[in-house]
Amino acid sequence: MNLTRYLAVLLLAFFSRPGFANAWAAVPGPAPGPSRAIGDTSAGCISGARTLPTEGDGYVVMHLERDRYYGHPSLIDSIKALGRRAAQGLGIMHVGDLGMARGGPMPFGHRSHQTGLDADVWFDLSPTLHLGTNRTRSNVSAYSLLSPASEGLNYGLWSDHHAQMLKTTASQPAVDRIFVNARIKQELCRSARGDRSWLRKIRPWYHHEDHFHMRLACPPDSPSCKRQDPIPLGDGCNELDWWIRKTPGTGGTPKAAPPPKPVMPAECRTVLSEH
Ligand SMILES: [Zn+2]
Repeated sequence: MNLTRYLAVLLLAFFSRPGFANAWAAVPGPAPGPSRAIGDTSAGCISGARTLPTEGDGYVVMHLERDRYYGHPSLIDSIKALGRRAAQGLGIMHVGDLGMARGGPMPFGHRSHQTGLDADVWFDLSPTLHLGTNRTRSNVSAYSLLSPASEGLNYGLWSDHHAQMLKTTASQPAVDRIFVNARIKQELCRSARGDRSWLRKIRPWYHHEDHFHMRLACPPDSPSCKRQDPIPLGDGCNELDWWIRKTPGTGGTPKAAPPPKPVMPAECRTVLSEH
């Protein structure tokens, strides 16, 4: 066994020991120093994360009790910019999970969201939704845009505002890709007029019928950030039949076995323990 492999095995043992996920959930706050996204979105962390203010122009963060509103500055800026867009007549953007203060694996809820570059945004744009909530906005959940009866979109809920939010998000240069339910992408493919290049970043994925998941590309300041495989060329509208056949109803049935888990970089050990 060569040294690199030996270290990788040692690290894997360290990071997969019981209770490790809780160590990431129990950190006192972001690690100090400049902001750096480190590793893979499914096995990584973030140093110098910023806090998204829990409300701002055109947005509110939901489920504050989860304490998952930290990210790379480019993610924070990106969300604030989307909020400002929402405020121009689209409604109020409800922000779900970003990442934990130092990123890392979450005790529940997501496989990715580990490097401060991922955020979930609810499709619910109602300006009044958050007004009826408790202090941490934990007593409401996002609605689905799908209609189980028609096995398609619920056109009583879907509106052009959703399309505009997705187009604005996809048009941000920092955004690498956005995950939505295949039925939602299908609707965008059907209705998009003029420039369709932004559709490429909209990726069909399991579920994602009540929120979209935005993921930024590795920022230039983060040399240890692991780049994702590039998205295939084209608008991706012709791969939707496969998804819709595979995931009837609410779009979440046959989950494929997840790919082998990447190993968390050693740098994250320092991020976790820094004072
Ligand atoms: Zn997500």
